[in-house]
Amino acid sequence: MVRVHVAPPKTGEDMVKQVSCPFCTNREPALKENGTAWAFLSNPRKVPGHFLVAPKRHIEKPWELTQTELKDIFLLIFFIEKQLVSKLGQGVDIRQNYRPYIPQDTIKVDHVVFHVYPRYHQDYLYQVSEKFESDLFTELDPAETEEFMRLLNP
Ligand SMILES: [Zn+2]
Repeated sequence: MVRVHVAPPKTGEDMVKQVSCPFCTNREPALKENGTAWAFLSNPRKVPGHFLVAPKRHIEKPWELTQTELKDIFLLIFFIEKQLVSKLGQGVDIRQNYRPYIPQDTIKVDHVVFHVYPRYHQDYLYQVSEKFESDLFTELDPAETEEFMRLLNP
């Protein structure tokens, strides 16, 4: 069965945001694209091969992606992962941040985007950041599991 997804009409506020969105107006060139998604290099970037995969449509909340957009985005992500693993790293990180509390600037853009970057053992990202994060981990309390079970299943 084929499902057709129709984007809701854009409001005046959406149009203003789209005009001011660097991914809609002034992003790096797409190095790969499909029906509804683009892949381009992050500028600025964390490491060589730091890709951004985004819907062509301006969306700010990841849960507003249509099934078609999700599929197109993940087809591009998995394609890039395969290329990176065979040529630039031993592994890949995929990251999506939803941070409406941070104003848009040259590093944070409101347009939904997935970060994809190559990783290898004790790489630059590990050396400058992740090696300091091991203290963040703590044992999971069963009461916390119950609490989140209720959150997801009200
Ligand atoms: Zn945009």
